[in-house]
Amino acid sequence: MSEINRQILLAQRPVGEPGPEVFEVNEAPVPEPGNGEFLVKVLYNSVDPAMRGWMNEGRSYIQPVQLGEVMRAGAIGRVVKSRNDHFREGAYVSGMFGVQHYAVSDGKGVIEVDPSIAPLERYLGVLGMPGMTAYFGLLDVGQPKEGDTVLVSGAAGAVGATVGQIAKIKGCRAVGVAGGQEKCDFAREVGFDDVVDYKAEQAGKGIKRACPDGVDVYFDNVGGEVLEGALARLRLNARVVLCGAISQYNNADSLQGPRNYMALLVNRARMEGFVVFDYAKRYGEAAQQMAQWIQEGKLEAREHVVDGIDDFQKHLMMLFRGENFGKLVIKVQNDD
Ligand code: NAP
Repeated sequence: MSEINRQILLAQRPVGEPGPEVFEVNEAPVPEPGNGEFLVKVLYNSVDPAMRGWMNEGRSYIQPVQLGEVMRAGAIGRVVKSRNDHFREGAYVSGMFGVQHYAVSDGKGVIEVDPSIAPLERYLGVLGMPGMTAYFGLLDVGQPKEGDTVLVSGAAGAVGATVGQIAKIKGCRAVGVAGGQEKCDFAREVGFDDVVDYKAEQAGKGIKRACPDGVDVYFDNVGGEVLEGALARLRLNARVVLCGAISQYNNADSLQGPRNYMALLVNRARMEGFVVFDYAKRYGEAAQQMAQWIQEGKLEAREHVVDGIDDFQKHLMMLFRGENFGKLVIKVQNDD
């Protein structure tokens, strides 16, 4: 085992797009677990749009990452030393271990994962936080009914591609919005009935074409113009699920809100935000269902794996440039 813990620290708070100066590579000694703790060798890091928000100062659903702290990140790793009765050496675990090679944990918020059921990186994707987001966001907040038209932005991404597939499983018509031909092809491949390429046609026009009878559920991952285009096509009693607004995360000025929000009133529609962590107690139920759908060939999962934490800033920017196909994951180090 290495004696050095390589880490990515938050060095500056970004304004707009986070540049390379925002992060710093650091080397520290590998920590020793205390009583009740265990040491994890981190194997995979999750790269998430939400990380951009965690870097900002100010009130949100979670404390910001402090300057000089290890960048917060979901991760999968192997327990290499344990002084905790619940997590034995050799167990594979999922938790918020941060962008670093080794982390000490007391087990809070950590769950064991089974590499014989699915590849480890999948526990950061469809069997992890993005999968839970898709499941609870669509089913609990969106409440789709058979025959509904479900419109999903970020349709080729980790959350969006899963939402579209769950909508199909539930007997809905799924329409995606994604950027570029390749992304749209991918969305069709996983089962979307129609796709709008917001880079090739104005989002509102595309949504009107692809949803001629209107939209019953809009699952919003991007905000901005796409949200406005979706609101313009709402049906009576529609549900708008506010999952994310990635088009706005690097906006250094004021956020672009929907100018046509009166569409909610006219259509007696509901727009509701949610945070997946509020469903933590029900993750087991969702994971079991998703695993079954995968086994039955009803749910396809794709991860986009990149190498090494030193290029963390570049990896993160892939999300904002639309360069990821499926769940973006960093392979941190070999499992040896
Ligand atoms: P992802 O969709 O795998 O990756 C992000 C995608 O966003 C990119 O591939 C890109 O796809 C699209 N994008 C980037 N900039 C855009 C822009 N300006 N306009 C439109 N699309 C843009 O990421 P994810 O992890 O699945 O997350 C999707 C959304 O869910 C994010 O907004 C995230 O914050 C949110 N989220 C919320 C919760 C919650 O609890 N509420 C939990 C997890 C994630 P294209 O190439 O198609 O543009």
